[in-house]
Amino acid sequence: MSTSPLDLVRPDLHDFTGYASARSVRLGGQDLSSATWLNANESPWPNRADGAARLRRYPDPQPTVLLEALAELYGCTPAQLLVGRGSDEGIDLLVRALCRPGADAVVTTPPTFGMYAVSARLHGTAVVEVPLTDGVDGFTCDLDAVARAAQDTAAKLVFLCSPGNPCGNLLRLASIEALAQRLQEQAVVVVDEAYLEYARQPSAVTLIPRQRNIAVLRTLSKAHALAAARIGCVVADPDLILQLRRCQAPYPLPEPCVALAGQAVEPHAREATSSRIATVVAERGRLAAALAASPWVRQVYPSHGNFLLVRFFDPDAAFARLLAAGIVVRALAAVPGLEDALRITVGSPVQNADVIRALARLPATVGAGAA
Ligand SMILES: *Cc1c(COP(=O)(O)O)cnc(C)c1O
Repeated sequence: MSTSPLDLVRPDLHDFTGYASARSVRLGGQDLSSATWLNANESPWPNRADGAARLRRYPDPQPTVLLEALAELYGCTPAQLLVGRGSDEGIDLLVRALCRPGADAVVTTPPTFGMYAVSARLHGTAVVEVPLTDGVDGFTCDLDAVARAAQDTAAKLVFLCSPGNPCGNLLRLASIEALAQRLQEQAVVVVDEAYLEYARQPSAVTLIPRQRNIAVLRTLSKAHALAAARIGCVVADPDLILQLRRCQAPYPLPEPCVALAGQAVEPHAREATSSRIATVVAERGRLAAALAASPWVRQVYPSHGNFLLVRFFDPDAAFARLLAAGIVVRALAAVPGLEDALRITVGSPVQNADVIRALARLPATVGAGAA
């Protein structure tokens, strides 16, 4: 059993209790379900737009029913779970709870998701980069180099992304556990599993009881198709979760989003989600094979996510060609090492067929004899 992750929290926040909202006060054991609530300056009447009168009062900061449903979905206990406005909020809370502004550092492994560096910079925290290695089997992460960089800079957080965005690579759980063990006196290792539903590997959540300095990010934005509802989770040691809650906004979860998220993870909806995931995984293979055969394409990377990282001989022309066909993909021209790459989300079978058709042939050369 490793040391408590509370020892890794900013020393100046050890006695920080956060905002005491009207919903967070404890009122003893009395049943108050039919009480008159005049403690939060809410309106006694609903808005006319709020027909069901669900929105008049401030929401539960961490609704029990949703917490229990998500805990079941992610294989953890409710006490190990923080629900927030997307996993983006989880990233921000981890940075703020663990790093002293203007002092500490975080480690990232570019090319990777941009929000780790954004949150760190906004917080005045240094970003130490250990680039992924581009090899014959696609991108890989040198976790030994990550450990050394974290130790050299006394970093408080290490952000790993598995499956990686945009590189599509997967990290082995045993390697993540070994890294966390090496850094257990020093840092929290964050495993961003925004795309894990598309991979054939169990979650790093299973490591948390043994290695308490691991935090896992999960989201309903991708495979569960609820990006606009902004529901994401941090799964971590209960002590660390309590500390993150103290750093969170008072009422982070809008009630309509909570209601919808609850329905979205009910058994029937989950079955439909699973079958959509299976379709995307099958389409990913089909699209990858077709793109690899395209004369526009230099290289298609293996992917464990719902997207493909593809290098092109002429990425600008390929981007324009797709746009002319009404298809928008992500250009990575600004990402060092991926200047010639596009990230293409795996769409529906029809959408993917459109991508393949648009890139089936090179444009006919301009008339022979042109100068
Ligand atoms: C999309 C994405 C997220 C953002 O998830 P939200 O829950 O919508 O905030 C997090 N991490 C990675 C790697 C992503 O690609």
